Amino acid sequence: MSEVADVGSTESEVATLTQRLIKLDTTNPPGNETLAAELLRDYLEAAGVECQLFARVPERANLVARIPGRGSGPTLALLSHTDVVLADANDWERDPFGGDLVGDTIWGRGALDMKGEVAASAVALATLARDGWRGDGDLIFVAAADEEVGAGFGLQWLVEEHPDAVRADFSINEGAGDRVELGGKVLYLCATAEKMSSPFVLRVHGRAGHGAMPSIADNALVKAAPFIERLGVFDVEPRLIPEVEGFLAALLGEVPPATDALARAREIAPLAGELIEPLLGMTVAPTKAHASDKRNVIPALCEITVDTRLLPGQTPEEAEATIRAWLGEGEYELVNTERFGGTRSAIDGPLWDAVRSFVESEEPDAAPAPICVAGFTDSHWMREAFDTVAYGFFPSRAMDSETAARLIHSANERVPVSDLELGVRWLRHAAQTVCG
Ligand SMILES: [Zn+2]
Repeated sequence: MSEVADVGSTESEVATLTQRLIKLDTTNPPGNETLAAELLRDYLEAAGVECQLFARVPERANLVARIPGRGSGPTLALLSHTDVVLADANDWERDPFGGDLVGDTIWGRGALDMKGEVAASAVALATLARDGWRGDGDLIFVAAADEEVGAGFGLQWLVEEHPDAVRADFSINEGAGDRVELGGKVLYLCATAEKMSSPFVLRVHGRAGHGAMPSIADNALVKAAPFIERLGVFDVEPRLIPEVEGFLAALLGEVPPATDALARAREIAPLAGELIEPLLGMTVAPTKAHASDKRNVIPALCEITVDTRLLPGQTPEEAEATIRAWLGEGEYELVNTERFGGTRSAIDGPLWDAVRSFVESEEPDAAPAPICVAGFTDSHWMREAFDTVAYGFFPSRAMDSETAARLIHSANERVPVSDLELGVRWLRHAAQTVCG
């Protein structure tokens, strides 16, 4: 038996495992996630859970653990990642790799993103296994490497090279779970969809010349300026995607017309407006500009990078047409440089029912509300490869969502132990209801 498995309560068990994970430096790059994978394997095997390590390179292992089902019921995967982003100890009040427990709170890099959820998932499996629980379908736990950089050592690689190890009908990952109070209504946000990142480059051509004689050149930087200004006030007709309809229904008890949605949400609470505003249409933001490399050379070319986020279901081709229509006629090129994410899962079925029944059992007056997240997580690999119903839902209520958002990828990241214990209960509930 490992020392952790002997600890009495679920709360101390998940706290101890979180602390031990934080003490392993898995800063990516370089990652070294094998440290975490081996700790989790030792912990889970002591509870009788089958584990396998899959590694493209030895120091960057992914752990896949499984409680096999009795029959052919649905498979649920608990997804997580063990790498963390850089922490500069000078900015912290405590050692970012110390895992200090201060009162009810564990401090350290990864406490929120996401070694706390890694530990909660492992404890959910270990306690279910010790209880002798088996579902009708398999329960899988994936502690993947390399989510923060995405260089092909983590879930993307597993899905491509070891699909049988990670294939699942349903999955639960990071992404949401925040408890928000909006105008007296308590909602737990569940991420059921993700926007697509689809950046463009806007190119404007001119004619080079000496900076001392501007009149005989044709300055591409100056010619680009009106396009940048125009993109700065980009606006589209609002439309309601199913996730926003579901959110508004939970918030207002009805779904207003798209043109009234923002005003109605803001009326309830400013935060409600902030949550849905970027989800009412595609967004564009000019973020980078490149023209001349030399102070005294008038540029013949100016390139503007336009960060562009699409609603799930929208395509870069549709976005290009919309941006061109907004900019109007003119001498410019517009080139799509990437398409990433933009997937969604249905807001109904067994996993949604599990979210709802958990929220209602925790707080009878609260309701779950779907949300589409602006960024993306590993969930999209599962949706794309296996058509998995993938949600981001790890409930938190001891720490409010604005505080948590400020701490993720930042200094003094920390997590209340009571939220980790809440997370263990949620993951056990999900396994017991979804796997049958
Ligand atoms: Zn993360």
